[in-house]
Amino acid sequence: LKIQSICPSDVVDQALTLLKHRLASYDVTVTVKRRENLPHIAGDPEQLKEVLVNLIENSCQAMEGRPGHIEITESLETHEKPMTRIRIHDSGPGIPEEMLPRIFDPFVTTKEDGTGLGLSIASRIIENHGGSIEVMSLPGNGTSFDILLPPMEQKK
Ligand code: ADP
Ligand code: MG
Repeated sequence: LKIQSICPSDVVDQALTLLKHRLASYDVTVTVKRRENLPHIAGDPEQLKEVLVNLIENSCQAMEGRPGHIEITESLETHEKPMTRIRIHDSGPGIPEEMLPRIFDPFVTTKEDGTGLGLSIASRIIENHGGSIEVMSLPGNGTSFDILLPPMEQKK
């Protein structure tokens, strides 16, 4: 882990910049609902960018060539411990309920050429940053992956 002080919104932007050309090959629109002035987090920007890239690519692939929409929503939760939440919601087909408990396990894939490693790597990276990933999916209502990350400790 190469730990730096990073702005979560910058990581979102960097992931979208990296994906720009690949996104153009899908019929998807992406919107970002920005939360201004999110607290910085302590983390490895390359690894966090990789997590976002993985989740956004999964969303694109889930559309299976049909038109779709991805909404990335940034927020800050202040009840209990403060937590930054980055939600990636897609309008894809959703994940069958019986699959949800295994989704973060390695080698679980429904794709012919999938590795099934993306989500297991993503959850490990986020846990290494003191955070967590949550998935919510209702077949027919799309899928949300939430990345929760703790703000950097403030020096007193
Ligand atoms: P891979 O992309 O190589 O299949 P992942 O670990 O990234 O591996 O994802 C595992 C599986 O979870 C996918 O094969 C797919 O079935 C399911 N999945 C992940 N993200 C989504 C999504 N946004 N919508 C629908 N299914 C998804
Ligand atoms: Mg994947």
